[in-house]
Amino acid sequence: MKSHYRVVVIGGGVVGTSVLYHLAKMGWSDVCLIERSVLTAGSSWHAAGGIHALNADPNIANLQAYTIDLLSEIEKESGQNIGLHMTGGLTMAGTPDRWEWLQSAYRTFQSIGIEDCRLVSVEEAVELNPIMSGEGLLGGMWADREGYVDTTGVVHAYAGAAKKNGAEVIEHNRVLELNQTLEGWEVVTEKGTISCEHVVNAAGLWAKQVGRMAGIELPVSPLNHHYLISDTIPALEELDFEVPMTVDLEGFTYMRQDQKGLLLGIYEVDHQHWMMDGAPWEYGFELQQEDPDRIEKELIMGFERYPALQDVGVKTWVNGAFTFSPDGNPLVGPVPGKRGYWSACAVMAGFLQGGGVGKSLAEWMINGEPEADVYGMDVARYGVWAENKQYIKETTGQFYTRRFVMTYPNEQLPAGRPLKMAPAYSDMTEAGCKWGQSWDMEVPLYFAEKGFEETPSLKRSNAFDIVAKECKAVREGVGLLDISGFSRFEVSGAGAEEWLNTIFATKLPKAGRSRLAVALGEDGRLKGDLTLFNWGDGTWWIMGSYYLRAWHMRWFDDHMGANVQVRDLGDEMCGFSLSGPKSRAVIEKLTDGAVGDLPFMGCGSFDIGLLRCKVGRLSVTGELGYEINCRMGDHIALRKALLAAGADEGIVEIGFNAMLSLRLEKSYGIWSAEFTQGYTPGMTAMDRWIDFDKEGFVGRDAALAERDGNGPAQVQVTLEVDADDADASGYEPVWDNGKKVGFVTSGGFGHTLGKSYAMALVDAGSASEGSALSVHIVGKERAAKVIAPSPYDPAGKAMRA
Ligand SMILES: Cc1cc2nc3c(=O)[nH]c(=O)nc-3n(C[C@H](O)[C@H](O)[C@H](O)COP(=O)(O)OP(=O)(O)OC[C@H]3O[C@@H](n4cnc5c(N)ncnc54)[C@H](O)[C@@H]3O)c2cc1C
Repeated sequence: MKSHYRVVVIGGGVVGTSVLYHLAKMGWSDVCLIERSVLTAGSSWHAAGGIHALNADPNIANLQAYTIDLLSEIEKESGQNIGLHMTGGLTMAGTPDRWEWLQSAYRTFQSIGIEDCRLVSVEEAVELNPIMSGEGLLGGMWADREGYVDTTGVVHAYAGAAKKNGAEVIEHNRVLELNQTLEGWEVVTEKGTISCEHVVNAAGLWAKQVGRMAGIELPVSPLNHHYLISDTIPALEELDFEVPMTVDLEGFTYMRQDQKGLLLGIYEVDHQHWMMDGAPWEYGFELQQEDPDRIEKELIMGFERYPALQDVGVKTWVNGAFTFSPDGNPLVGPVPGKRGYWSACAVMAGFLQGGGVGKSLAEWMINGEPEADVYGMDVARYGVWAENKQYIKETTGQFYTRRFVMTYPNEQLPAGRPLKMAPAYSDMTEAGCKWGQSWDMEVPLYFAEKGFEETPSLKRSNAFDIVAKECKAVREGVGLLDISGFSRFEVSGAGAEEWLNTIFATKLPKAGRSRLAVALGEDGRLKGDLTLFNWGDGTWWIMGSYYLRAWHMRWFDDHMGANVQVRDLGDEMCGFSLSGPKSRAVIEKLTDGAVGDLPFMGCGSFDIGLLRCKVGRLSVTGELGYEINCRMGDHIALRKALLAAGADEGIVEIGFNAMLSLRLEKSYGIWSAEFTQGYTPGMTAMDRWIDFDKEGFVGRDAALAERDGNGPAQVQVTLEVDADDADASGYEPVWDNGKKVGFVTSGGFGHTLGKSYAMALVDAGSASEGSALSVHIVGKERAAKVIAPSPYDPAGKAMRA
């Protein structure tokens, strides 16, 4: 062991060894891994080793596909057998909705390029897996590249291949303490102290404690998980092939062959947390006592699905723990506010996701950005609110219990809610508001009559007409939307302008003006679709998506300039937006200032009723509109004042569902759909906001190279879709005469124009106006046509009125 390494990885499970492997493979060989006991001594040794293709987040599914490809490679590189059994896999559906969902998921896989799967009938599934009963099943999906591995073999293969590339592995050496230094970190271990630039927390079951060593409370908790291995099953002895890995979604079980017996794993509904503050240091190759009573219901379903289990005994019970984040996805990347401290934990399916996690983390550390859009597993997708133990307990428990339960796109889950509520929350609830959640914040979806309950659905729901009415109110009168769920950052100081010019590719707005501002990463891909306000008094605001608060703040901190302060106002300021042709009449009643004279995109401070507010004349609905920002304490009064002033104009409270429909009719993109850190300005038409003459902004060279190149292979288009009972939502494949040419980024119903629309990224050759394409929506192919952007008011007269 040396006294200095460039990187110290803490934890010798499948994740730590994968991180080590990728760092060394990419050329950083001055790296070491420190393991408390021996490699695999956490969750990794007793995992079932299953590898599946399915994941609800397509970007994570892609990283899983990468991991599956990598497994054979590390076997070759290391010479270590990984016991790969590529049996193929089945995922079975047992309710009509689930079957519909699976057909839709199959199309999503096609969209993201996972081609080696197909839908199968129950008869075919039973032929593929003859020990499975088809009773109660409706259909399934087959994937070629599913199966299982020898878990110890995989960990040693990653470590062996890493060592061949120059990395070191130091076992029997617990990390005791972490101290931040000017250069990076001091890692105090049982065998001595190491200094390093970067430290990686890949401590699995102990991730919580290794976080606390650096003053970090990671939102992670272990939960117990059971599987059993049966005695030999005669029917399996007779087969000349291994039965495929099979997931019975409605039965809460997964199954694979284990020698001539079966391994049956259970996602028990009655979940059980284990050691929420992290495993004891002395915990090693041990297991918890099995608890068949707690999982009785799921066991009965499992034994019915695989009747041969009823005739043999259980050879081995495993009840072990592994870790979960609130949404079940890993926590990866640089931890905000702790330079050089990296998280690679909460990896729930390490054998399936570990490769992708290792690759992304190594790219991030070495190149400054991972290649893939890994927001879905970025540690910065959570904020300080997620440090709360009860929040972690409720959300990780909910995820575990619902691991195989279907979540509808319009379904609101209860765990950890309500958490943060804007002050007018109770008044708005009284007025019929139905709430969704963005980050920690309750946000309005729509306003309904008392007693209304939305039916969870893959298609248009019973809230359709309610949203239609809200859209009509905005297009014809005036709508009031609580916009507390927007992020707000204040930028000030002598260096503010210079810094903003660096961080944004856009020309800065003049005093008293706002502007859509594009931020780029170093590699020229998108980092933000923000709005910049120049208040004219030396202070500026950046407004954007609320759920990206920590993510954007980390980006700003990493690129901080001299003499500039950036303050997150997300817990201080909130507000409402007024939009619709009558919105000026409403706001003018509340001020004797010149708010009515504000030009389109103008902004300033005004008295609104008794309150001092910051107002911008803009709206994402495509109508005349005002965003009125107030202090948290003024929120209730502002709502009351606006509603009273709007009474004669027929003001209607609206929610974000209406806003999403209205913005779609304007072809306005939103983050996480049309815009992501995986896309470039040219692909998304964001290049029209770039000031290419401006020197020195982040990502300029790459943006210029794109502008001067041959044009992007795929571009954003608006589609009019021939749909009747369901609309596109995202990641549906787009076809041109049977050839896949792209995918939907978002979709929905345009209530004003009475048509179904989608925005999509498609091959440039299929992007011209009038192109006749098709789209799969909830598994059914629908005709679609490329139309000119902004089908509603293309000239933008309404918003400039
Ligand atoms: C019953 C069961 C079945 C499972 N089935 C599957 C499956 O089929 N497929 C799948 O992909 N996943 C499965 N998993 C999950 C899988 O086991 C985990 O995702 C994976 O093991 C996590 O790996 P890790 O490297 O993050 O953590 P761990 O394996 O827990 O490794 C962390 C390592 O860090 C070390 N460490 C901790 N603190 C320190 C310190 N202070 N100093 C030095 N070293 C330290 C520990 O000793 C340990 O070796 C299963 C898990 C269980 C319990």
